Amino acid sequence: MRKLPGLALSCCLILAAIKAAHATPPAPHGGGLFTTAPPERTDAAAPAHEPRRLCGPPADGSPNWECSNWAGTVKWTPSAVVAPATEAELASYLRAEAAAAAAAAPGAPPRAPLKVVGFAHSWAGLYVPAAAPGGARGATLALHMLSGITQLNATHAEVLAGTSFAALFEELHSKGLGLAWHPGGIQGLTVGGAVAVGFHGSQMSLGGVSSVVSALRLYDTDGVPHDLTDDASPDAMRAARMGLGMCGVVARVTLPVVPQFHLRRRRWRTDDLGAFFGEELPRLKSTYDRFHWYLHPLSESAWPMYWEPATAEESLAEGRPCRTAAEQAEDALLTEFGPDGLPLIMRWDNCSDVSHLSLTHAVDMEQQPLWNGEYYVSLDTASEAAATREILRRFDAVAARRGGPGARPPRDLWLHVRYVGADTSALLNPCYYSEEGAVCAAFELAIVAPAMDAPLPPWDEWADYFGAMEDVLRALGGRPHHAKYTSESAGPPAVPGFGLPVREFRKQCAAFDPHRLMRNEVFDRVYGGLQPAEEGEVAVAVS
Ligand SMILES: Cc1cc2nc3c(=O)[nH]c(=O)nc-3n(C[C@H](O)[C@H](O)[C@H](O)COP(=O)(O)OP(=O)(O)OC[C@H]3O[C@@H](n4cnc5c(N)ncnc54)[C@H](O)[C@@H]3O)c2cc1C
Repeated sequence: MRKLPGLALSCCLILAAIKAAHATPPAPHGGGLFTTAPPERTDAAAPAHEPRRLCGPPADGSPNWECSNWAGTVKWTPSAVVAPATEAELASYLRAEAAAAAAAAPGAPPRAPLKVVGFAHSWAGLYVPAAAPGGARGATLALHMLSGITQLNATHAEVLAGTSFAALFEELHSKGLGLAWHPGGIQGLTVGGAVAVGFHGSQMSLGGVSSVVSALRLYDTDGVPHDLTDDASPDAMRAARMGLGMCGVVARVTLPVVPQFHLRRRRWRTDDLGAFFGEELPRLKSTYDRFHWYLHPLSESAWPMYWEPATAEESLAEGRPCRTAAEQAEDALLTEFGPDGLPLIMRWDNCSDVSHLSLTHAVDMEQQPLWNGEYYVSLDTASEAAATREILRRFDAVAARRGGPGARPPRDLWLHVRYVGADTSALLNPCYYSEEGAVCAAFELAIVAPAMDAPLPPWDEWADYFGAMEDVLRALGGRPHHAKYTSESAGPPAVPGFGLPVREFRKQCAAFDPHRLMRNEVFDRVYGGLQPAEEGEVAVAVS
């Protein structure tokens, strides 16, 4: 039996890990486990897309494998890396671990913690296994090889959790179908990872992807499958559909589909922020269900965008199919925003196309990493504009503090505001409001690498600017996007768990993970460490 250095793996899973390493091109520093998102369509001039190493031997030659998130901002050294290629392998791994723990002699160390990872596209360290007794990390369970559609009819697709959106979109499209939900800007995420954190795009009439999940197959930490639906298990569904990797292992997800449809997308730049906030923003928000905008603090320009329905004939007549971010060569000419032009996250050409190609603009953004953090807040449009102006004022104050009087925010800083319909179908949904028609503005801040192949800007610069935005939005009742950066130094939220029913979440999830093997230390710190058994701690469900 071949044993990978520093890894304690059971036999079938050693094979799985080796298979993953051999299935992808060689890593620059030897073997490893690579993500499997399909490369994006690029023109010849675009930078080459390399598969990304999720876990592997570290460059310093130490024996234990190291894993990292996409941007390289979160790193961890798990006690094992497990990559099942089938659902049966997943179940047998979990059962074997549970059986070994049950058979352990009295006084033996308890079973090690366990954390699932999709493509590790989050910035929050949610997939870092908790520390085992003695300080070692627990196991990393990589699910991206569990990929494909398992059932499909005219209204729903059941999908394995490791399926990338890119693969799902292609498969549905080949059958004349599209997802009945508006994705965020990237296709290189696993469905399981996206559902676990509430991946969202910008559509006021609908919530994030978790809100449209109608059924889940979840494995508990003993390897027992649970088929959950809203009808049969509503309470468990409200916890598991946004489980943050702390509520069992999601193996299958059921999502709604519709006949494939077309959308027309439009983006433009406006340099008059007074007119934008005063007239344009209210008008656009009330006209378009799918609308969002970017703001560039240095140039004080806003970049609104919307999508509207179009027919296939209209798309064809327009003759401008939507391109990926890397393919949008004219945006690369806008060198005012960096030597490589507009950052990839900003590249949304005017086009008309089938749903997934118009709603997303990149399979994967690895060519230009970025810091990213986001808060959801429910405000009327005037308050939203006032909050944005206050954020800009604080950015100027940060710039002056860092660079002296008159200094301006960095060129690579971008603010992005999207809209998500409120819903209470997931206990940890940051837009958990029950008022009819409530909508959250999701304020997303990014500092991008200054060029495609440049390193990320320093953490302290990012933390200063993000902290400034966070202060404003927390004071307005904002809640963080779970998958993104949050300043742990911001302290505990003003209301326990940011007003989310965290205790109820823990109570429901205890059924799938009674020993809290899937606990997450970052979540516990940011959300105030609420325990299900803590009496007197009232989690306020804002409604
Ligand atoms: C360039 C870029 C653009 C992005 N754009 C958006 C956007 O437009 N909108 C948005 O909302 N977010 C966006 N994100 C964030 C994204 O939604 C999350 O990072 C998402 O979780 C990534 O999916 P993943 O497969 O990489 O999951 P991971 O980051 O690997 O995991 C995320 C969490 O899900 C858990 N998890 C993963 N799989 C499972 C499973 N099968 N069962 C149980 N738990 C699981 C993990 O333990 C972890 O807690 C973006 C990220 C990047 C890098």
